[in-house]
Amino acid sequence: MAVPHPSSSSSRSHPFLSHVYHTSFHHYHHHNHPSLVLFWCLVFSLLSPLALSSSSSSSSSSSDSSSSSSSHISLGIGETEGTKHDLHQAILRDEAVARLHELGQVSDAATHLERTFMSPASIRAIPLIRGWMEDAGLSTWVDYMGNVHGRVEPKNGSSQALLIGSHMDTVIDAGKYDGSLGIISAISALKVLKIDGRLGELKRPVEVIAFSDEEGVRFQSTFLGSAALAGIMPVSRLEVTDKSGISVQDALKENSIDITDENLMQLKYDPASVWGYVEVHIEQGPVLEWVGYPLGVVKGIAGQTRLKVTVKGSQGHAGTVPMSMRQDPMTGAAELIVLLESVCKNPKDYLSCNVQCNEDTVESLANSLVCTVGEISTWPSASNVIPGQVRQRNYSLLCTYVFSLLVL
Ligand SMILES: [Zn+2]
Repeated sequence: MAVPHPSSSSSRSHPFLSHVYHTSFHHYHHHNHPSLVLFWCLVFSLLSPLALSSSSSSSSSSSDSSSSSSSHISLGIGETEGTKHDLHQAILRDEAVARLHELGQVSDAATHLERTFMSPASIRAIPLIRGWMEDAGLSTWVDYMGNVHGRVEPKNGSSQALLIGSHMDTVIDAGKYDGSLGIISAISALKVLKIDGRLGELKRPVEVIAFSDEEGVRFQSTFLGSAALAGIMPVSRLEVTDKSGISVQDALKENSIDITDENLMQLKYDPASVWGYVEVHIEQGPVLEWVGYPLGVVKGIAGQTRLKVTVKGSQGHAGTVPMSMRQDPMTGAAELIVLLESVCKNPKDYLSCNVQCNEDTVESLANSLVCTVGEISTWPSASNVIPGQVRQRNYSLLCTYVFSLLVL
């Protein structure tokens, strides 16, 4: 898209980077999950215009035949509108928050929240989420990749489904809202519709999906859950192994999920069967709070490019190699890191367009490009040795991080 401008980098001089150090790049792409938006009310507000028929509701008590007897909140005949409002609040706020706390306790670690693909905690989370889905009047199942589904069909209407979901796995030492909020808020919104007797009025199927893997912590292979449903997960990914040598396929089989190549193919949703997808997610950054907005709407999705960079130099004794004869990759790596920061703070100073982009591209980069060097390691990493090589993992994120205030 954009290429370094040969003349624009002349303000910083890096003469030795080009000829002393051999820099190798391992390059891979990674999509980032949508990073903004909060609160159940978004799902609830979306459900009304998108999925409910336009006929007005007259029912004040649940008429849905799949009403769960385990529902602990019910609305009796004769209760007032005020009571109904209180009940909605109890479900959308109090119960949802209680469930977020409860799911946040389902962890593989005693001291922090950690729930990775098919881990014991993930297996414990499945019936919990499934029970909440059934409580909201949804028919549930777990698919061959461990995704948990809860679906309600309309009595009449389109067969194209509105999908709502988020991920049930976590990073290590995760916050309890990450992923869980999107699952629980959707379930809570549908539970209110069920209690109001409006689930039957849906004009299209609504399906809540708790994706088994988004973060990729265990297998370093993100989006196992949703990639399978999108039909873009290669069969070979079933053979990817974790640190213990257990493959994705084995991890599923350990939990009685018999994934095969054929089963994987069958998971793909026909695009014609899907009307749309909505995800509520906490903002994983400080911007909304900083500007004082309670809620934002994602206008774009972030894309990541990750680079592993190895800077090679000449290893030597720190006390005897004269400065003029050194090829120190540590200082070279430091220069690279500072340069990267400068590029991302002021991309216009460094980038120009080739045929594949225009000035708008550079302009949008100026407002959204972020770059991070998150890991650095040296060899042999001793205080009296000039390192032989330095490895960095650059994490650069090209992001359309723009939001607008949602008017509910
Ligand atoms: Zn997330």
